[in-house]
Amino acid sequence: MGEQAFRAHQVMKWIHQQGVTDFDQMTNLSKLLRARLKELAKVELPEVVQELDSADGTRKWLIRMIGGSCIETVFIPVEGRGTLCVSSQIGCSLDCSFCATGKQGFNRDLTTAEIVAQLWLALKSFGSFEPKATRAVTNVVLMGMGEPLLNFDNVVDAVNLMMDDHAYGLSKRRVTLSTSGVVPELDRLARFTDVSLAISLHAPNDALRDQLVPLNKKYPIARLLESTRNYLKQLPDNHRRATIEYTLIEGINDQPEHARELAILLSDVPCKINLIPFNPFAGVGYQKVSEVNLRRFQKILLEAGYTVTVRTTRGDDIAAACGQLAGAVNDRTRRSERYQALSGSIS
Ligand code: SAH
Ligand code: SF4
Repeated sequence: MGEQAFRAHQVMKWIHQQGVTDFDQMTNLSKLLRARLKELAKVELPEVVQELDSADGTRKWLIRMIGGSCIETVFIPVEGRGTLCVSSQIGCSLDCSFCATGKQGFNRDLTTAEIVAQLWLALKSFGSFEPKATRAVTNVVLMGMGEPLLNFDNVVDAVNLMMDDHAYGLSKRRVTLSTSGVVPELDRLARFTDVSLAISLHAPNDALRDQLVPLNKKYPIARLLESTRNYLKQLPDNHRRATIEYTLIEGINDQPEHARELAILLSDVPCKINLIPFNPFAGVGYQKVSEVNLRRFQKILLEAGYTVTVRTTRGDDIAAACGQLAGAVNDRTRRSERYQALSGSIS
């Protein structure tokens, strides 16, 4: 608009730090500039259709996007931290065999605004924009609906805004992108952002991973881990580790030999391991890992020297746990051209 750069920072602070969506209230801008902004732009929020609170403090929002489909966003409080689990697409095209989102099919990518709006709406809902309020959300994970790397440009812009000091100012260690392994996009990610990374591995060998994550047939484990190592190497702070996510499914990938194979596989990947007990949903043939198998699996990895955390199941009374997010997806058949190209070679 030919304005000085600091004007953009002023507008960003109004919207993302103070929660103001009306240009008229942006009082440090001239009346003329406010009028021009009103002519050219609007700050529009998607509609919150439902807000649900779990007995354990988890909160879930069902949010309707333009076009009518809904996505879900989940807030999970854990001792002094508040993690917001954000969606990147309406549905998901990758059809992992254990994931409710995948079973819903794919509708469309979310825009940058729709991704950032999830954080804005959560902060608003907790009163975090009020003067002197503490920020309810300290961490963001892109682990909601969708595969973030298949919506590359919008996701990169959104996470960069979340980490920008003129906007939400979240630490780059506290914003995490989770991917099932879209290797070509992961290969170029470091050129655009230094967000933290989580890899959805779930299996220690290709034969098993092919069954759980169909994308593995196109980008097998060795390529995925190589790409992960390269991403970490390119980060400005070279001590960052990736999180390896491993969803434990009873009798499928939870045996001691899987843990031992995983320990060898990850030996040259700077990482910590997050074990996720599988969360069942209607119509899925898998079962949750038993406590005995979970602890046995964890022990083998701990003894091999890994940092291993177990993700406790949160919010399952409101279907907000990992893999239970399904939203309400219209028009499942309209897949992106990019994915049509991809799925052609997977199946
Ligand atoms: N598409 C991205 C991010 C969303 S899924 C990805 O796959 O990484 C976020 C995490 O939840 C992933 O690790 C995914 O594998 C896991 N997940 C999916 N369904 C699950 C289920 N039913 N139980 C437990 N974890 C699940
Ligand atoms: Fe998509 Fe991730 Fe679910 Fe796989 S696990 S279907 S990539 S959302």
